[in-house]
Amino acid sequence: MERETMCIQAGYTPKNGESRMIPIIQSTTFKYDTSEDMGKLFDLEASGYFYTRLQNPTNDMVAAKICALEGGTAGMLTSSGQAANFFSIFNIATCGDHVVCASTIYGGTFNLFNVTMRKMGIDFTFVDPDCSDEELENAFKPNTKAVFGETIANPALVVFDIERFANAAHAHGVPLIVDNTFATPINCRPIEWGADIVTHSTTKYMDGHDTSVGGAIVDGGKFDWMAHADKFPGLTTPDDSYHGITYAEKFGLGGAFITKCTAQLMRDFGSIQAPMNAFFLNLGLESLAVRMPRHCENAQKVAEYLQGHEKVAWVTYPGLPGDKYYERARKYMPNGTCGVISFGLKGGRAAAEEFMKKLKVAMIATHVADAHTCVLHPANSTHRQLTDEELIAGGVGPDLIRLSVGIENVNDIIADLEQALA
Ligand SMILES: *Cc1c(COP(=O)(O)O)cnc(C)c1O
Repeated sequence: MERETMCIQAGYTPKNGESRMIPIIQSTTFKYDTSEDMGKLFDLEASGYFYTRLQNPTNDMVAAKICALEGGTAGMLTSSGQAANFFSIFNIATCGDHVVCASTIYGGTFNLFNVTMRKMGIDFTFVDPDCSDEELENAFKPNTKAVFGETIANPALVVFDIERFANAAHAHGVPLIVDNTFATPINCRPIEWGADIVTHSTTKYMDGHDTSVGGAIVDGGKFDWMAHADKFPGLTTPDDSYHGITYAEKFGLGGAFITKCTAQLMRDFGSIQAPMNAFFLNLGLESLAVRMPRHCENAQKVAEYLQGHEKVAWVTYPGLPGDKYYERARKYMPNGTCGVISFGLKGGRAAAEEFMKKLKVAMIATHVADAHTCVLHPANSTHRQLTDEELIAGGVGPDLIRLSVGIENVNDIIADLEQALA
């Protein structure tokens, strides 16, 4: 199937007389005829559902759709993008381990890694995604367990050189994890470029309508854990909490990562997406392939308009021919990147605040990447916990305005910017 068809059809095929739409299985628990039946589930001997803290059928149908779109072998939903990124790392790295990470990632993820996960004893080295080969090489340590980056960084709009980082990760026997939130699998499939694990904040374009916070993890199924068995004992040695199962042996390349993540992390943390939210997410996914091109088309026109405006100091959008990442974006995302633009006004931080107050169509919201045009000043909101040095290293200067172009008529969006700039 092509991606447009998968958006509608993948993940759920109703049988004779069953609901046409993915059913919402709003149930905490599932009934079995015998204790033996249930015992097999607890031992991971049979697949099935017993408690929605770990797994729910509605979620799994929607995860299967996202997995198909990404070209992966297994997928799962999480309660948020934060949970997805946390799980993606914590499933393979533990106290005493180390991760190489692009410095330009989303502020929330940066804080999760740099503050909270450090408290758990996991060390991170943040590298400029455009660093020299030598710097990248030097970032690796004997205890490195993964490399992490974002296809298009939020909000720095740095396009990640997936192939280069995948090669570096694989040369060191570790997987590359890519957060593909901004590009979505409509515009880029990181697995095709060598990524091993893909994560999402489904809160953004996938849901697309400001209704549901959520996340997803997809395994590309190519990383050979057993070939690097000493680095990943959680996958390659018996799990005593599951009767001595060795995930990489029992579930193979395609299933080990997601099975372990569900059986251990979802069991213990319970960061599950509500089935109702998964249903809303599925509605968003159905139109994803139609919405993404419209976001890109509108953003392109808005970026060109801003670039030509005398009060605008700079514009960053990977679709602009002069942009630093234009060529790389054409390689990885030939059909378009995303609807998010960042720019600064000649009046700097103060002008940004004044300008934003005057906007009417573009609303101020701590959100990005959905049908509604919205605007945000990260230095004053999502990134305010970062120091000025961290802001600059993250590619988010104090004057940066993040404009998420929606799917309204672009003339109304431009007219709104025009009156606010005036
Ligand atoms: C928003 C976002 C997250 C965090 O997702 P939540 O759903 O808000 O928890 C992670 N990565 C990227 C790239 C994001 O834009």
